[in-house]
Amino acid sequence: MIRSLTVSSIPSNVPEDSQDVLIVGGGVIGLCCGWYLSKAGYKVTILDRDPTRKSACSDENAGMVVPSHFIPLAAPGVISQGLKWMLNPKSPFYMRPRLDPALWSWCWKFFRHANVRHVENSKHILSTISLESRRLFLELADELNFNLETCGLMMLCQTEAGLEEEAEVASMAAEVGVQAEVCNAGRVRELDPEVRMDVVGGVWFEQDCHLDPLEFMEELRRGIREREGTFLDDEAKDFIRQGNQLTAVETAKGERLKADWFVLAGGAWTPEMTHQLGLRLPMQGGKGYSLTLKNPTELPRLCSLLKETRVAVTPMGEKLRVGGTMEICGTDLSVSHKRVQGIIESFCRFFSAFKESDFEGIEPWSGLRPCTPDGLPCIGPIPGMQNATVATGHAMLGLSIGPVTGKLVTDLITQGKPELEVALLKLAPERFG
Ligand SMILES: Cc1cc2nc3c(=O)[nH]c(=O)nc-3n(C[C@H](O)[C@H](O)[C@H](O)COP(=O)(O)OP(=O)(O)OC[C@H]3O[C@@H](n4cnc5c(N)ncnc54)[C@H](O)[C@@H]3O)c2cc1C
Repeated sequence: MIRSLTVSSIPSNVPEDSQDVLIVGGGVIGLCCGWYLSKAGYKVTILDRDPTRKSACSDENAGMVVPSHFIPLAAPGVISQGLKWMLNPKSPFYMRPRLDPALWSWCWKFFRHANVRHVENSKHILSTISLESRRLFLELADELNFNLETCGLMMLCQTEAGLEEEAEVASMAAEVGVQAEVCNAGRVRELDPEVRMDVVGGVWFEQDCHLDPLEFMEELRRGIREREGTFLDDEAKDFIRQGNQLTAVETAKGERLKADWFVLAGGAWTPEMTHQLGLRLPMQGGKGYSLTLKNPTELPRLCSLLKETRVAVTPMGEKLRVGGTMEICGTDLSVSHKRVQGIIESFCRFFSAFKESDFEGIEPWSGLRPCTPDGLPCIGPIPGMQNATVATGHAMLGLSIGPVTGKLVTDLITQGKPELEVALLKLAPERFG
Protein backbone atom coordinates (compact mmCIF):
# COMPACT_ATOMS: atom_id res chain seq x y z
CA MET A 1 0.00 0.00 0.00
CA ILE A 2 1.31 3.44 -0.89
CA ARG A 3 1.81 5.45 2.25
CA SER A 4 2.29 9.05 1.33
CA LEU A 5 1.19 11.80 -0.99
CA THR A 6 3.94 12.98 -3.24
CA VAL A 7 3.02 16.63 -3.64
CA SER A 8 5.47 19.02 -2.04
CA SER A 9 2.80 21.10 -0.30
CA ILE A 10 1.87 18.33 2.15
CA PRO A 11 3.02 19.29 5.67
CA SER A 12 5.72 17.03 7.08
CA ASN A 13 4.70 17.27 10.75
CA VAL A 14 1.85 14.71 10.61
CA PRO A 15 2.41 11.34 12.36
CA GLU A 16 4.22 8.80 10.16
CA ASP A 17 1.74 6.01 10.89
CA SER A 18 -1.45 7.84 9.94
CA GLN A 19 -2.98 6.95 6.59
CA ASP A 20 -3.56 9.34 3.73
CA VAL A 21 -6.97 10.07 2.31
CA LEU A 22 -7.43 12.09 -0.86
CA ILE A 23 -10.89 13.63 -1.19
CA VAL A 24 -11.80 14.95 -4.63
CA GLY A 25 -14.34 17.79 -4.28
CA GLY A 26 -14.40 20.47 -1.60
CA GLY A 27 -18.15 21.09 -1.41
CA VAL A 28 -20.09 20.35 1.75
CA ILE A 29 -19.88 16.58 1.19
CA GLY A 30 -16.10 16.55 0.68
CA LEU A 31 -15.67 18.81 3.73
CA CYS A 32 -17.89 16.70 5.99
CA CYS A 33 -15.94 13.58 4.94
CA GLY A 34 -12.71 15.49 5.58
CA TRP A 35 -13.88 16.59 9.03
CA TYR A 36 -14.77 13.12 10.31
CA LEU A 37 -11.78 11.42 8.65
CA SER A 38 -9.33 13.91 10.13
CA LYS A 39 -11.01 13.45 13.52
CA ALA A 40 -10.43 9.70 13.14
CA GLY A 41 -6.70 10.37 12.67
CA TYR A 42 -6.37 10.28 8.89
CA LYS A 43 -4.15 12.69 6.98
CA VAL A 44 -6.67 14.40 4.74
CA THR A 45 -6.05 16.25 1.48
CA ILE A 46 -8.99 17.92 -0.26
CA LEU A 47 -8.57 18.58 -3.96
CA ASP A 48 -10.87 21.06 -5.68
CA ARG A 49 -10.41 22.56 -9.11
CA ASP A 50 -12.31 25.76 -8.41
CA PRO A 51 -10.50 28.15 -6.05
CA THR A 52 -13.23 30.78 -6.62
CA ARG A 53 -15.86 28.32 -5.27
CA LYS A 54 -18.25 29.72 -7.90
CA SER A 55 -19.24 26.34 -9.33
CA ALA A 56 -19.84 24.45 -6.06
CA CYS A 57 -23.48 23.93 -5.18
CA SER A 58 -22.79 24.14 -1.47
CA ASP A 59 -21.89 27.78 -0.96
CA GLU A 60 -25.11 29.76 -1.32
CA ASN A 61 -27.85 27.21 -0.93
CA ALA A 62 -30.85 27.72 1.34
CA GLY A 63 -29.02 26.46 4.45
CA MET A 64 -31.80 24.17 5.69
CA VAL A 65 -31.32 21.00 7.73
CA VAL A 66 -34.49 19.11 6.94
CA PRO A 67 -35.57 15.83 8.54
CA SER A 68 -38.97 16.91 7.12
CA HIS A 69 -37.73 15.89 3.63
CA PHE A 70 -38.26 12.16 3.99
CA ILE A 71 -40.10 11.84 0.67
CA PRO A 72 -37.64 11.34 -2.20
CA LEU A 73 -37.70 13.55 -5.28
CA ALA A 74 -38.96 10.58 -7.30
CA ALA A 75 -42.53 10.39 -5.96
CA PRO A 76 -46.09 10.02 -7.37
CA GLY A 77 -47.48 13.18 -8.97
CA VAL A 78 -44.06 14.74 -9.54
CA ILE A 79 -43.95 13.93 -13.26
CA SER A 80 -47.43 15.27 -14.11
CA GLN A 81 -46.77 18.41 -12.06
CA GLY A 82 -43.37 18.80 -13.74
CA LEU A 83 -44.89 18.53 -17.23
CA LYS A 84 -47.41 21.28 -16.40
CA TRP A 85 -44.66 23.52 -15.03
CA MET A 86 -42.52 23.03 -18.16
CA LEU A 87 -45.02 25.19 -20.07
CA ASN A 88 -44.43 28.21 -17.82
CA PRO A 89 -41.02 29.93 -18.11
CA LYS A 90 -41.32 31.31 -14.55
CA SER A 91 -42.26 27.99 -12.94
CA PRO A 92 -40.04 26.14 -10.44
CA PHE A 93 -39.27 23.21 -12.78
CA TYR A 94 -37.79 22.84 -16.24
CA MET A 95 -36.00 20.20 -18.25
CA ARG A 96 -34.36 21.37 -21.44
CA PRO A 97 -35.15 18.62 -24.00
CA ARG A 98 -31.94 17.57 -25.77
CA LEU A 99 -30.63 14.61 -27.74
CA ASP A 100 -28.59 13.16 -24.91
CA PRO A 101 -28.91 9.41 -24.23
CA ALA A 102 -27.72 9.99 -20.61
CA LEU A 103 -30.62 12.39 -20.04
CA TRP A 104 -33.23 10.03 -21.49
CA SER A 105 -31.87 7.08 -19.56
CA TRP A 106 -32.03 9.22 -16.38
CA CYS A 107 -35.64 10.20 -17.18
CA TRP A 108 -36.65 6.58 -17.75
CA LYS A 109 -35.14 5.55 -14.41
CA PHE A 110 -36.85 8.50 -12.68
CA PHE A 111 -40.19 7.49 -14.21
CA ARG A 112 -39.74 3.94 -12.89
CA HIS A 113 -39.12 5.21 -9.36
CA ALA A 114 -41.85 7.86 -9.13
CA ASN A 115 -44.37 5.60 -7.36
CA VAL A 116 -45.86 4.86 -3.94
CA ARG A 117 -43.76 1.72 -3.47
CA HIS A 118 -40.52 3.68 -3.87
CA VAL A 119 -41.70 6.33 -1.38
CA GLU A 120 -42.59 3.57 1.11
CA ASN A 121 -39.17 1.94 0.58
CA SER A 122 -37.27 5.22 0.96
CA LYS A 123 -38.99 7.21 3.69
CA HIS A 124 -37.50 5.25 6.59
CA ILE A 125 -33.96 5.41 5.31
CA LEU A 126 -34.25 9.14 4.51
CA SER A 127 -35.71 9.98 7.90
CA THR A 128 -33.18 7.78 9.72
CA ILE A 129 -30.16 9.40 8.10
CA SER A 130 -31.67 12.91 8.30
CA LEU A 131 -32.42 12.65 12.01
CA GLU A 132 -28.96 11.23 12.67
CA SER A 133 -27.46 14.10 10.65
CA ARG A 134 -29.45 16.61 12.71
CA ARG A 135 -28.01 15.03 15.87
CA LEU A 136 -24.52 15.37 14.40
CA PHE A 137 -25.23 19.04 13.55
CA LEU A 138 -26.01 19.69 17.23
CA GLU A 139 -22.65 18.12 18.15
CA LEU A 140 -20.88 20.12 15.45
CA ALA A 141 -22.44 23.37 16.67
CA ASP A 142 -20.77 22.69 20.04
CA GLU A 143 -17.40 21.86 18.50
CA LEU A 144 -17.23 24.54 15.82
CA ASN A 145 -18.07 28.22 15.70
CA PHE A 146 -21.21 28.56 13.56
CA ASN A 147 -24.77 29.46 14.32
CA LEU A 148 -27.37 26.68 14.11
CA GLU A 149 -30.98 27.84 14.46
CA THR A 150 -33.17 25.03 15.77
CA CYS A 151 -36.61 26.67 15.63
CA GLY A 152 -38.00 24.57 12.78
CA LEU A 153 -39.28 25.07 9.25
CA MET A 154 -42.73 26.24 8.19
CA MET A 155 -44.19 24.80 4.99
CA LEU A 156 -46.36 27.79 4.04
CA CYS A 157 -49.51 27.22 1.97
CA GLN A 158 -51.55 29.78 0.07
CA THR A 159 -54.30 27.39 -0.98
CA GLU A 160 -56.57 24.99 0.92
CA ALA A 161 -55.61 22.22 -1.52
CA GLY A 162 -51.92 22.81 -0.78
CA LEU A 163 -52.56 22.73 2.96
CA GLU A 164 -54.49 19.46 2.64
CA GLU A 165 -51.60 17.85 0.74
CA GLU A 166 -49.14 18.99 3.37
CA ALA A 167 -51.41 17.73 6.16
CA GLU A 168 -51.11 14.27 4.56
CA VAL A 169 -47.32 14.60 4.64
CA ALA A 170 -47.61 15.61 8.30
CA SER A 171 -49.49 12.40 9.10
CA MET A 172 -46.83 10.32 7.32
CA ALA A 173 -44.17 12.22 9.29
CA ALA A 174 -45.41 10.75 12.55
CA GLU A 175 -44.77 7.22 11.18
CA VAL A 176 -41.09 7.98 10.63
CA GLY A 177 -40.42 9.86 13.85
CA VAL A 178 -40.55 13.38 12.40
CA GLN A 179 -42.60 15.94 14.35
CA ALA A 180 -45.12 17.98 12.35
CA GLU A 181 -47.93 20.34 13.38
CA VAL A 182 -50.64 21.46 10.98
CA CYS A 183 -51.22 25.18 11.60
CA ASN A 184 -53.96 27.60 10.61
CA ALA A 185 -53.05 31.16 9.60
CA GLY A 186 -53.36 32.36 13.20
CA ARG A 187 -50.93 29.75 14.50
CA VAL A 188 -48.47 30.57 11.69
CA ARG A 189 -48.55 34.24 12.81
CA GLU A 190 -48.10 33.23 16.44
CA LEU A 191 -44.94 31.26 15.58
CA ASP A 192 -43.47 34.05 13.46
CA PRO A 193 -45.11 37.28 14.69
CA GLU A 194 -42.71 39.83 13.14
CA VAL A 195 -43.50 39.11 9.48
CA ARG A 196 -46.57 39.61 7.30
CA MET A 197 -47.49 36.46 5.38
CA ASP A 198 -50.37 35.97 3.01
CA VAL A 199 -51.17 32.30 3.70
CA VAL A 200 -54.07 30.03 4.67
CA GLY A 201 -51.84 28.01 6.98
CA GLY A 202 -48.83 25.75 7.02
CA VAL A 203 -47.13 22.75 8.54
CA TRP A 204 -44.48 23.37 11.17
CA PHE A 205 -41.63 20.85 11.20
CA GLU A 206 -40.15 21.65 14.56
CA GLN A 207 -36.97 19.55 14.26
CA ASP A 208 -35.76 21.29 11.10
CA CYS A 209 -32.94 23.80 11.50
CA HIS A 210 -31.15 26.44 9.46
CA LEU A 211 -27.70 27.96 9.19
CA ASP A 212 -25.46 29.95 6.87
CA PRO A 213 -23.80 27.30 4.67
CA LEU A 214 -20.71 29.40 3.96
CA GLU A 215 -20.13 30.01 7.66
CA PHE A 216 -20.52 26.27 8.33
CA MET A 217 -18.11 25.27 5.56
CA GLU A 218 -15.54 27.89 6.57
CA GLU A 219 -15.57 26.34 10.05
CA LEU A 220 -15.16 22.82 8.64
CA ARG A 221 -12.19 24.03 6.59
CA ARG A 222 -10.65 25.64 9.68
CA GLY A 223 -11.19 22.46 11.71
CA ILE A 224 -9.64 20.27 9.00
CA ARG A 225 -6.61 22.59 8.71
CA GLU A 226 -6.17 22.48 12.49
CA ARG A 227 -5.79 18.71 12.21
CA GLU A 228 -3.08 19.16 9.55
CA GLY A 229 -5.46 18.69 6.63
CA THR A 230 -4.42 20.22 3.31
CA PHE A 231 -6.36 21.92 0.52
CA LEU A 232 -5.12 21.83 -3.08
CA ASP A 233 -6.51 23.85 -6.01
CA ASP A 234 -6.25 21.46 -8.93
CA GLU A 235 -8.39 19.20 -11.07
CA ALA A 236 -8.48 15.40 -10.85
CA LYS A 237 -7.98 14.23 -14.42
CA ASP A 238 -6.87 10.59 -14.48
CA PHE A 239 -7.24 7.77 -12.02
CA ILE A 240 -4.38 5.29 -11.83
CA ARG A 241 -5.27 1.80 -10.66
CA GLN A 242 -3.44 -1.44 -10.03
CA GLY A 243 -5.87 -4.34 -9.86
CA ASN A 244 -8.45 -3.53 -7.24
CA GLN A 245 -6.43 -0.65 -5.76
CA LEU A 246 -6.65 2.97 -6.82
CA THR A 247 -3.08 4.17 -6.42
CA ALA A 248 -3.04 7.78 -7.55
CA VAL A 249 -4.90 10.67 -9.13
CA GLU A 250 -3.19 12.66 -11.85
CA THR A 251 -4.10 16.32 -11.92
CA ALA A 252 -4.47 18.98 -14.60
CA LYS A 253 -1.30 20.66 -13.28
CA GLY A 254 0.64 17.42 -13.78
CA GLU A 255 0.84 16.26 -10.15
CA ARG A 256 0.47 12.58 -9.26
CA LEU A 257 -1.29 12.38 -5.90
CA LYS A 258 -0.94 9.06 -4.11
CA ALA A 259 -2.98 8.02 -1.10
CA ASP A 260 -4.17 5.00 0.83
CA TRP A 261 -7.84 5.89 0.45
CA PHE A 262 -9.79 7.98 -2.04
CA VAL A 263 -13.20 9.62 -1.69
CA LEU A 264 -14.91 10.97 -4.81
CA ALA A 265 -17.25 13.80 -3.84
CA GLY A 266 -17.38 15.95 -6.96
CA GLY A 267 -21.09 16.82 -6.80
CA ALA A 268 -22.78 16.91 -10.22
CA TRP A 269 -19.42 16.14 -11.89
CA THR A 270 -18.74 12.90 -10.00
CA PRO A 271 -19.88 10.60 -12.87
CA GLU A 272 -17.01 11.96 -15.02
CA MET A 273 -14.63 10.52 -12.41
CA THR A 274 -16.35 7.24 -11.54
CA HIS A 275 -16.75 6.43 -15.23
CA GLN A 276 -12.96 5.94 -15.42
CA LEU A 277 -13.25 3.36 -12.64
CA GLY A 278 -16.00 1.40 -14.35
CA LEU A 279 -18.94 2.83 -12.35
CA ARG A 280 -21.64 4.53 -14.40
CA LEU A 281 -23.60 6.85 -12.13
CA PRO A 282 -26.84 8.14 -13.66
CA MET A 283 -26.85 11.75 -12.56
CA GLN A 284 -28.14 15.11 -13.75
CA GLY A 285 -27.47 18.57 -12.40
CA GLY A 286 -30.67 20.07 -10.94
CA LYS A 287 -30.01 23.78 -11.24
CA GLY A 288 -31.35 26.19 -8.65
CA TYR A 289 -30.87 29.88 -7.89
CA SER A 290 -30.66 32.00 -4.79
CA LEU A 291 -30.73 35.73 -4.03
CA THR A 292 -29.62 37.21 -0.74
CA LEU A 293 -31.14 40.41 0.68
CA LYS A 294 -28.60 42.13 2.94
CA ASN A 295 -31.10 44.50 4.60
CA PRO A 296 -34.52 42.85 4.33
CA THR A 297 -37.65 44.84 5.15
CA GLU A 298 -38.69 42.11 7.61
CA LEU A 299 -36.79 39.15 8.99
CA PRO A 300 -38.70 35.93 9.70
CA ARG A 301 -37.66 33.78 12.65
CA LEU A 302 -38.35 30.45 10.95
CA CYS A 303 -37.09 29.29 7.59
CA SER A 304 -39.90 28.38 5.23
CA LEU A 305 -40.82 26.67 2.00
CA LEU A 306 -43.57 28.13 -0.14
CA LYS A 307 -45.65 25.09 -0.98
CA GLU A 308 -47.25 26.14 -4.25
CA THR A 309 -44.07 27.51 -5.86
CA ARG A 310 -41.33 25.52 -4.08
CA VAL A 311 -39.42 28.65 -3.06
CA ALA A 312 -37.13 28.45 0.00
CA VAL A 313 -36.80 31.41 2.39
CA THR A 314 -34.08 31.44 5.05
CA PRO A 315 -33.02 34.07 7.56
CA MET A 316 -29.22 34.02 7.97
CA GLY A 317 -28.23 36.42 10.71
CA GLU A 318 -29.35 39.85 9.44
CA LYS A 319 -29.65 38.58 5.84
CA LEU A 320 -32.54 36.85 4.11
CA ARG A 321 -31.96 34.27 1.39
CA VAL A 322 -34.63 33.37 -1.16
CA GLY A 323 -34.04 30.48 -3.56
CA GLY A 324 -35.62 27.86 -5.74
CA THR A 325 -36.19 26.15 -9.11
CA MET A 326 -35.06 22.78 -10.33
CA GLU A 327 -33.84 22.78 -13.92
CA ILE A 328 -32.61 19.39 -15.07
CA CYS A 329 -29.71 20.60 -17.16
CA GLY A 330 -26.62 18.36 -17.13
CA THR A 331 -23.85 20.65 -15.87
CA ASP A 332 -24.90 24.01 -17.32
CA LEU A 333 -24.68 26.80 -14.71
CA SER A 334 -26.09 29.67 -16.82
CA VAL A 335 -28.82 31.81 -15.24
CA SER A 336 -32.39 31.94 -16.57
CA HIS A 337 -33.53 35.43 -15.60
CA LYS A 338 -37.18 34.51 -16.23
CA ARG A 339 -37.01 31.77 -13.60
CA VAL A 340 -35.21 34.05 -11.18
CA GLN A 341 -38.05 36.54 -11.72
CA GLY A 342 -40.49 33.71 -10.95
CA ILE A 343 -38.78 33.17 -7.58
CA ILE A 344 -38.97 36.88 -6.73
CA GLU A 345 -42.64 37.21 -7.71
CA SER A 346 -43.61 34.15 -5.76
CA PHE A 347 -41.75 35.32 -2.63
CA CYS A 348 -43.43 38.76 -2.80
CA ARG A 349 -46.86 37.11 -3.12
CA PHE A 350 -46.31 35.23 0.16
CA PHE A 351 -44.42 37.93 2.07
CA SER A 352 -46.48 41.04 1.46
CA ALA A 353 -44.08 43.60 2.98
CA PHE A 354 -41.58 42.94 0.17
CA LYS A 355 -41.54 44.45 -3.34
CA GLU A 356 -39.93 43.08 -6.48
CA SER A 357 -37.75 46.20 -6.56
CA ASP A 358 -36.11 45.07 -3.29
CA PHE A 359 -34.17 42.58 -5.45
CA GLU A 360 -32.86 45.11 -7.98
CA GLY A 361 -29.09 44.89 -8.40
CA ILE A 362 -28.78 41.54 -6.60
CA GLU A 363 -26.71 39.05 -8.57
CA PRO A 364 -28.44 35.64 -8.65
CA TRP A 365 -26.32 32.68 -7.59
CA SER A 366 -26.75 29.35 -9.38
CA GLY A 367 -25.81 25.86 -8.22
CA LEU A 368 -26.17 22.30 -9.51
CA ARG A 369 -27.79 19.80 -7.20
CA PRO A 370 -26.37 16.35 -7.95
CA CYS A 371 -29.59 14.44 -8.73
CA THR A 372 -29.95 10.67 -9.05
CA PRO A 373 -33.07 9.25 -10.71
CA ASP A 374 -34.41 7.70 -7.48
CA GLY A 375 -33.84 10.82 -5.37
CA LEU A 376 -31.45 9.05 -2.95
CA PRO A 377 -27.73 9.72 -2.56
CA CYS A 378 -24.99 7.32 -3.66
CA ILE A 379 -22.67 6.52 -0.75
CA GLY A 380 -20.39 3.50 -0.68
CA PRO A 381 -17.42 1.69 -2.12
CA ILE A 382 -16.84 1.69 -5.86
CA PRO A 383 -17.45 -1.89 -6.99
CA GLY A 384 -14.23 -3.75 -7.68
CA MET A 385 -12.11 -1.16 -5.84
CA GLN A 386 -10.82 -1.79 -2.31
CA ASN A 387 -9.87 1.76 -1.40
CA ALA A 388 -12.20 4.10 -3.30
CA THR A 389 -15.52 5.40 -2.02
CA VAL A 390 -18.09 7.61 -3.64
CA ALA A 391 -20.27 10.19 -1.84
CA THR A 392 -22.62 12.12 -4.07
CA GLY A 393 -26.16 12.43 -5.44
CA HIS A 394 -27.53 14.38 -2.47
CA ALA A 395 -29.85 16.52 -4.64
CA MET A 396 -31.80 18.87 -2.31
CA LEU A 397 -30.26 17.41 0.85
CA GLY A 398 -26.49 17.84 0.56
CA LEU A 399 -26.13 20.23 3.45
CA SER A 400 -28.78 18.50 5.52
CA ILE A 401 -27.25 15.03 5.32
CA GLY A 402 -23.65 16.15 4.83
CA PRO A 403 -22.57 15.25 8.40
CA VAL A 404 -24.11 11.77 8.34
CA THR A 405 -22.51 11.19 4.93
CA GLY A 406 -19.12 12.15 6.36
CA LYS A 407 -19.69 9.77 9.25
CA LEU A 408 -20.80 6.88 7.01
CA VAL A 409 -17.76 7.30 4.75
CA THR A 410 -15.44 7.47 7.77
CA ASP A 411 -16.98 4.34 9.34
CA LEU A 412 -16.59 2.55 6.01
CA ILE A 413 -12.91 3.40 5.78
CA THR A 414 -12.07 2.78 9.44
CA GLN A 415 -14.21 -0.29 10.12
CA GLY A 416 -15.19 -1.64 6.71
CA LYS A 417 -18.84 -1.09 7.56
CA PRO A 418 -20.75 1.73 9.24
CA GLU A 419 -22.93 1.54 12.33
CA LEU A 420 -25.84 2.55 10.08
CA GLU A 421 -25.12 -0.42 7.81
CA VAL A 422 -28.66 -0.48 6.47
CA ALA A 423 -28.01 2.89 4.85
CA LEU A 424 -25.32 1.49 2.64
CA LEU A 425 -27.56 -1.28 1.33
CA LYS A 426 -30.10 1.29 0.10
CA LEU A 427 -27.56 3.86 -1.04
CA ALA A 428 -25.07 1.59 -2.83
CA PRO A 429 -23.68 3.45 -5.87
CA GLU A 430 -24.06 0.40 -8.12
CA ARG A 431 -27.81 0.02 -7.46
CA PHE A 432 -28.77 1.28 -10.92
CA GLY A 433 -26.98 -1.62 -12.62
C1 LIG B 1 -30.97 26.84 -4.72
C2 LIG B 1 -30.51 25.67 -3.89
C3 LIG B 1 -30.90 25.56 -2.57
C4 LIG B 1 -30.50 24.47 -1.81
N1 LIG B 1 -30.86 24.41 -0.51
C5 LIG B 1 -30.47 23.37 0.26
C6 LIG B 1 -30.83 23.29 1.61
O1 LIG B 1 -31.46 24.18 2.15
N2 LIG B 1 -30.45 22.20 2.33
C7 LIG B 1 -29.73 21.18 1.77
O2 LIG B 1 -29.44 20.21 2.44
N3 LIG B 1 -29.36 21.24 0.47
C8 LIG B 1 -29.71 22.30 -0.30
N4 LIG B 1 -29.35 22.35 -1.61
C9 LIG B 1 -28.60 21.22 -2.17
C10 LIG B 1 -27.13 21.27 -1.78
O3 LIG B 1 -26.62 22.56 -2.03
C11 LIG B 1 -26.34 20.21 -2.54
O4 LIG B 1 -26.92 18.94 -2.32
C12 LIG B 1 -24.90 20.14 -2.05
O5 LIG B 1 -24.31 21.41 -2.11
C13 LIG B 1 -24.05 19.17 -2.88
O6 LIG B 1 -22.76 19.20 -2.32
P1 LIG B 1 -21.55 18.46 -3.01
O7 LIG B 1 -20.40 18.62 -2.11
O8 LIG B 1 -21.97 17.08 -3.40
O9 LIG B 1 -21.32 19.22 -4.39
P2 LIG B 1 -20.67 20.66 -4.69
O10 LIG B 1 -20.93 21.63 -3.62
O11 LIG B 1 -21.10 21.03 -6.07
O12 LIG B 1 -19.11 20.37 -4.65
C14 LIG B 1 -18.48 19.59 -5.63
C15 LIG B 1 -17.07 20.13 -5.79
O13 LIG B 1 -16.31 19.20 -6.58
C16 LIG B 1 -15.41 19.94 -7.35
N5 LIG B 1 -14.99 19.07 -8.47
C17 LIG B 1 -15.78 18.45 -9.38
N6 LIG B 1 -15.04 17.72 -10.23
C18 LIG B 1 -13.75 17.89 -9.84
C19 LIG B 1 -12.50 17.37 -10.33
N7 LIG B 1 -12.42 16.55 -11.40
N8 LIG B 1 -11.36 17.74 -9.70
C20 LIG B 1 -11.40 18.58 -8.62
N9 LIG B 1 -12.54 19.09 -8.14
C21 LIG B 1 -13.71 18.73 -8.73
C22 LIG B 1 -16.19 21.16 -7.80
O14 LIG B 1 -15.31 22.24 -8.15
C23 LIG B 1 -17.02 21.47 -6.54
O15 LIG B 1 -16.38 22.44 -5.72
C24 LIG B 1 -29.71 23.44 -2.39
C25 LIG B 1 -29.29 23.57 -3.72
C26 LIG B 1 -29.68 24.67 -4.47
C27 LIG B 1 -29.20 24.79 -5.89
